Amino acid sequence: HGAPVNLHFDNRFLRELPGDPETGPRVRQVEGALWSRVAPTPVAAPRLLAHSAEMARTLGIGEAEIHAQRFADVFAGNALVPGMEPYAANYGGHQFGHWAGQLGDGRAISLGEAIAHGGERWELQLKGAGPTPYSRTADGRAVLRSSIREFLCSEAMHHLGVPTTRALSLVATGEAVVRDMFYDGHPRPEPGAIVCRVAPSFLRVGNFELPYARNDLPLLRQLVEFCIRRDFTHIEGGGLEGAGEALYAAWFAEVCTRTAVMVAHWMRVGFVHGVMNTDNMSILGLTIDYGPYGWIDNYDPDWTPNTTDAQGRRYRFGWQPKIAYWNLTRLAHAISPLFADPQVLNAGLQAYADAYTREDRDSIARKLGLAACRDADVELAKELHVLLADAEVDMTLFFRALADVDVAVPTLAPVAHAFYDDDKREASAPAFGDWLARHAARVREDAVDPAARRQRMNAANPKYVLRNYLAQQAIDRAEQGDIAGVHELLEVMRRPYDEQPGREAFAQPRPDWARQKAGCSMLSCSS
Ligand code: AMP
Ligand code: MG
Ligand code: MG
Repeated sequence: HGAPVNLHFDNRFLRELPGDPETGPRVRQVEGALWSRVAPTPVAAPRLLAHSAEMARTLGIGEAEIHAQRFADVFAGNALVPGMEPYAANYGGHQFGHWAGQLGDGRAISLGEAIAHGGERWELQLKGAGPTPYSRTADGRAVLRSSIREFLCSEAMHHLGVPTTRALSLVATGEAVVRDMFYDGHPRPEPGAIVCRVAPSFLRVGNFELPYARNDLPLLRQLVEFCIRRDFTHIEGGGLEGAGEALYAAWFAEVCTRTAVMVAHWMRVGFVHGVMNTDNMSILGLTIDYGPYGWIDNYDPDWTPNTTDAQGRRYRFGWQPKIAYWNLTRLAHAISPLFADPQVLNAGLQAYADAYTREDRDSIARKLGLAACRDADVELAKELHVLLADAEVDMTLFFRALADVDVAVPTLAPVAHAFYDDDKREASAPAFGDWLARHAARVREDAVDPAARRQRMNAANPKYVLRNYLAQQAIDRAEQGDIAGVHELLEVMRRPYDEQPGREAFAQPRPDWARQKAGCSMLSCSS
């Protein structure tokens, strides 16, 4: 079977938190427990389609190991490495603003907590490895298209500098999965796949909400203390040991701050999560659960990629900062019984607001090429956002090209290719001309070296993002048996801020045909 996969495990989640002793029916409430043991269901024909070289290196998995059949078998759930103890986590969540009760890992199975050479902890989790006690009526599987989307975007976000869960591998199962795609009125079987995703922890807001909803305060306290002890050791070591409420409050404030940093990055790069339910909000402030996400083409704060959310558009691009805040208020509620005076949690929520404002101002300065963000610059940015939305301008192309505008003699020419509509470009030319002139005047006040300014702008304004239609093109090819498009896209997304000669095709405006095509602009939760 080739080289073994050498990993060392230390499964603290299982060791330190209560699990469900039963292996009972699938549709039931699992009380008093934070996880259930469950083995992945073997698949017919595991075949490695793609992997992240960076993630493999981090885990200490060598190239020879990766390309052995053993690797595909392990990361398809057909074999276990010594030390792996598979389980599904139990959590609840607010979905679209409403308490949904127990959810849990319905199609994710954790294999264990791998300890890398540097000592860091990486939980390995298979997504789509078969039913778990939390699958309810669903199959626990994932289709190739959604697995490609999760695999590529996890790594793209990492390289963009956005806090995120990672992806080690994408493995084809050799089995068909039936989802919501119809052809001639019949369900269309699709190829199945499994992604191994990786993070220091997959704990979510929803893990804390479930024991709160059940009024199981001992379990809630145990989980909070575990999370601090395992995932926030720097707080614990900060002189607060045994401090109880003060320690919990400091932890909550850090969760809030990290969440603010994450969302500010989303807004900087034009990422729309699409389903910011509390069960999809990482307690570590990592982007988690790549489902119906999307990327902004023409700047539109009201856009959401999620068809399930078409009516309320709760998860639209421009609402992400306030939805994240709302999710944190759910976390505050959930842990409030641990406090004599829950009002102390307001400091954490304020930390969110402060951190978001700080990060957003930092983004403005970097994206606009300013040494620092003044109050008036926030207004300048807001005016630009209105112009971009009204004139239908590509966010990524515009900001990237802004560095090419000559601040001595600003003209619209360097950004002209970012407009989707010629008439709107003509009509808005005076307004853009005026804005560019004021921007140029503001830049000149800083007296920063032009080359350094350009470099700083390019490091905040990516040239390459995982546009929805690019991912869909790679998916279409993969479904025909050609995985090269996935590899190519992964390669491009490894250096999103660099000019990559010969790869201009990946930095173009969304083509007209992709505007309304399924997969390119619209996705459902079940994908
Ligand atoms: P999501 O919208 O992806 O966050 O999923 C919400 C809940 O549905 C989670 O508890 C998932 O584990 C579960 N779920 C989604 N798809 C499946 C599936 N194919 N099989 C089992 N559970 C699923
Ligand atoms: Mg989820
Ligand atoms: Mg999902």
